Amino acid sequence: MMKRTIGQIASMCGGTLHREADAERMVEGVFTDSRKPQSHGLFIPLSGERFDGHNYVQQIMSEAGVAAFLWQKDHGAPPAGNAIEVEDTLEALQQLAAAYLRETGVSVVGITGSNGKTTTKDIVTALLGTTFKVHKTEGNYNNHIGLPLTVLSMPQDTDILVLEMGMSGRGEIRLLANIAKPDVAVITNIGESHLLQLGSRAEIARAKLEIASGLKPGGLLIYNGDEPLLPQVLAEPATVKPEGLKGFTFGISKDNDDYPTEISSDGEGSLFTTSQSGNEAFRLPLLGQHNVVNGLAALAVARHFNVDADHIRKGLSSLKLTGMRIEVVNCSDGLTVLNDAYNASPASMKAALQTLSGYKTVGRKIAVLGDMLELGSEEKQFHEEIGLFAAKHDVEELFTYGDLGLSIAQGASRLMPTEHVHAYTDKEKLIQHLRTYLHANDIVLVKASRGMRLEEIVDALKNGP
Ligand code: ATP
Ligand code: MG
Repeated sequence: MMKRTIGQIASMCGGTLHREADAERMVEGVFTDSRKPQSHGLFIPLSGERFDGHNYVQQIMSEAGVAAFLWQKDHGAPPAGNAIEVEDTLEALQQLAAAYLRETGVSVVGITGSNGKTTTKDIVTALLGTTFKVHKTEGNYNNHIGLPLTVLSMPQDTDILVLEMGMSGRGEIRLLANIAKPDVAVITNIGESHLLQLGSRAEIARAKLEIASGLKPGGLLIYNGDEPLLPQVLAEPATVKPEGLKGFTFGISKDNDDYPTEISSDGEGSLFTTSQSGNEAFRLPLLGQHNVVNGLAALAVARHFNVDADHIRKGLSSLKLTGMRIEVVNCSDGLTVLNDAYNASPASMKAALQTLSGYKTVGRKIAVLGDMLELGSEEKQFHEEIGLFAAKHDVEELFTYGDLGLSIAQGASRLMPTEHVHAYTDKEKLIQHLRTYLHANDIVLVKASRGMRLEEIVDALKNGP
């Protein structure tokens, strides 16, 4: 983690040392959560809607050897202790992270996109980790607070920092990219998530392409070439990009710089070759064509850092994923659940249904699908389309959950016999029905937006009646 003196920190974040502060005192790391004070750390109090970290400064400074704190000037005089006064504590956190990154000179990979950021980040880290010391965003710490905290928690010997960049509106990726200044930026895809806030898919593409504005001169932009909006928006004069930008596209289409030449599945993972890798075959311990596409993006990053094929294979075999992303759960009674309950949008629903459809099984293919949230005024239509898509992709029995789930059921009922479509708004009743209906060899996909908490269904199936 960051080690600097209080005096150095003040100049890195544009703050002024309080006259009583000890400029020479060493600080190790920063923290924002008042419940988890760090010994020798710098406390950064953030002002939220419900809580203001400033209220806890006095108490924190009296315990556990905390070294110093930031203090936002509009809060009056700071309490006693090593205070660094700043105009805005959040901006100071971001500025500190940016300055620290510039000083350390580590290479940075930034990853954004509507779906597949965390998955791609995990694959990139596994590949680069075979050859370099890599530090990555933990879990989903991908926003204007999580990203700078990730930067400042990076171990001293880090070679490459892999950062996930999330957003819900315009300007957010620009901010993150300009803190991180990536050497390599990845855009996994463009979906319909955040359509409610942004209004159109082109606006979503513009929001993701803000990542180019932070790329270092001569930086590499690796993007999904199956999405025509990306090259289109990239060419728009208003899109800010660095001198000497290099582009590299990946995807299913043969027009891409890298595309899969063969894909097959062994039940728990995907085997594939790519146009760039020639005869080299790879095994990704993940299901689904969409994950192979995430893999192509990660391969491009690994190649940029000259990781060879043997190390790539080793990296892929050691891959550890953040949970609930199309996780294969083998239940004790022989049932297989594809747990994709982490989140859902139309693009990721379709990807998951394709994965189910391609799954080799002697049993029945069943889908339990819930609401996809935040899709704006056309939400019902999106849900109906997913129902229709499920029916076209071999789903034999469909269970839906939630109010919007009713529209999924409606869409499916256009092609599927209605006795195979079951719509529920009561989760317990749905679980009861599943328990009486499912048997060994069945394969069940479970997926919805985070807010629907469908992992409760997975847990119920896993643990049996
Ligand atoms: P978040 O915005 O919540 O951080 P994320 O972009 O990090 O999401 P992941 O956590 O990797 O994405 O995956 C979320 C969901 O999207 C998973 O359910 C997964 O099955 C699906 N998914 C992953 N990659 C793709 C892809 N390339 N295209 C479509 N769907 C995908
Ligand atoms: Mg994520």
